[in-house]
Amino acid sequence: MITRRIALLGSTGSIGTQTLAVIEDLHRAGHRFSVIALAAGKNLELLAAQVQRFQPKLVVIEQTRDLNRLGRLLRPYWSGELLAGGEGLHAAVTHPDVDLVVNALVGAAGLIPTLEALRANKIVALANKESLVIGGHLIKSSRVSIIPIDSEHSALFQLVRSLRPSEIERVILTASGGPFRTRPLDSFAQITIDEALQHPTWRMGKRITIDSATLVNKAFEVIEAHWLFDLPYEKISVLIHPQSAIHGLVELTDGSLLAHLSTTDMKLPIQYALTYPERVPSSVERLDLVKQRLEFAPVGRERYPAFWTVLEAGRRGGTYPAVANAADEVLVQRFLNNEIAFTQIAQGLETILAEHQPVQNPSLEEIWEADRWARERAGKLSPNRVR
Ligand code: MG
Repeated sequence: MITRRIALLGSTGSIGTQTLAVIEDLHRAGHRFSVIALAAGKNLELLAAQVQRFQPKLVVIEQTRDLNRLGRLLRPYWSGELLAGGEGLHAAVTHPDVDLVVNALVGAAGLIPTLEALRANKIVALANKESLVIGGHLIKSSRVSIIPIDSEHSALFQLVRSLRPSEIERVILTASGGPFRTRPLDSFAQITIDEALQHPTWRMGKRITIDSATLVNKAFEVIEAHWLFDLPYEKISVLIHPQSAIHGLVELTDGSLLAHLSTTDMKLPIQYALTYPERVPSSVERLDLVKQRLEFAPVGRERYPAFWTVLEAGRRGGTYPAVANAADEVLVQRFLNNEIAFTQIAQGLETILAEHQPVQNPSLEEIWEADRWARERAGKLSPNRVR
C-alpha cells in the first residue's frame, strides 16, 4: 500500500483534473492518497466541487477578489483554511502535512512554487513547463527531487533510472510533428486557427496545441531535459514520430537503444509520478503492437523554423529561454486572436530573440524583467514589421 499526502497546484486544469481521477483510481485500488491542499485559478465552481469531494485542509485561489465568493460556495460542506495568490501557494507547498507537490500550474508563475517546494524538501511531480525552461539553472542542484509528468520526460526518467551516466550516448525525444507534418510549405502562410488546433495524437490546451504545431513545445522539452537529466544539448536529439507510440529513447554507448512505448494517455505518466518509485497496475489502454506502425523523420528546418530558433535560445541560456517562452505565449495568443499569421509566430520569435540583450545566470527578478520585456515586444510587433 502506497501512502502520499499531496498538494495539487492547478487542480482545475487538464493535468489537475486527471491527477484527481488517478488519485481516485489509486484509492479504489487500496492505496492511501490524501489531498492536503488544492490550488486553482478561475474555475471556482469546479474547485468547489473538488473541495467537497476531497476535503483538503487548505484551498488556494489565484485572485484575492474571488475569496468571498469561493468562501460562500464552500461554507455548506467545508471548513478549512482558504488563502489567495502567492501567499496561498507558499502555504500549500510548504505545508507540514504535505510530502508530494504536484505542480500543474500553467505559466511562468509556476517557477516560484517549484523552488519553494524543493527548498521545503518536498518531492515535486512537475507538469509546469516554465519551471525548468526559464529557471532550470535555479533548480539544477535539487533536480533529484523532481519527478516529471510530461510524457516524454516521464519516458526518459523511467529509462535512465537503471543506467549509469557513462552508459548514455544520447537521449531522443519524439514529436508527433503536429498537423502540418506533410502540408505543402508554400501554403503555411494560409494556415487557419482551426487547422492549427487539430493535434493528430494528443488532446491538450490551446497554447500547447499550437506549440506542438510549431514544435516550439518540443524545443522547450529539450531545454527541460537538459536540466532534468543534466545532459549537454549535444546529447539530446528530437525525432518526428507521427504515431506517438514511442515517447522517449536512450541510445547507449554500445549502440543499444532503449525505448518507452505506451498509448497516449496522460494518466500513465501522472500515475507513475504519484506512485514513484513504485509501479502499480493501471486501467490505461494497452498498445496493440500488431496494429502499431513506427515511423521516424528528422525535424526539418524549413517546416519547423521556430523549433530551431527556440532550441538555439536554450543553448545560449541565460534569459534567452525566458524571452522565448514569454514571446511565444503572446505570439500564439495573437495568432489565436487572428492578429498575425501562423508563420509570423516563428518570425516574431526570431526577431525578438535577436534583439534581446541577455543576462547570464539570471536572478528571479532578472527573469521577470526579461519576461516583461519580451511580452511587451511581442505585443507591439506589428504584422507587417514581423514581415
Ligand atoms: Mg510532451
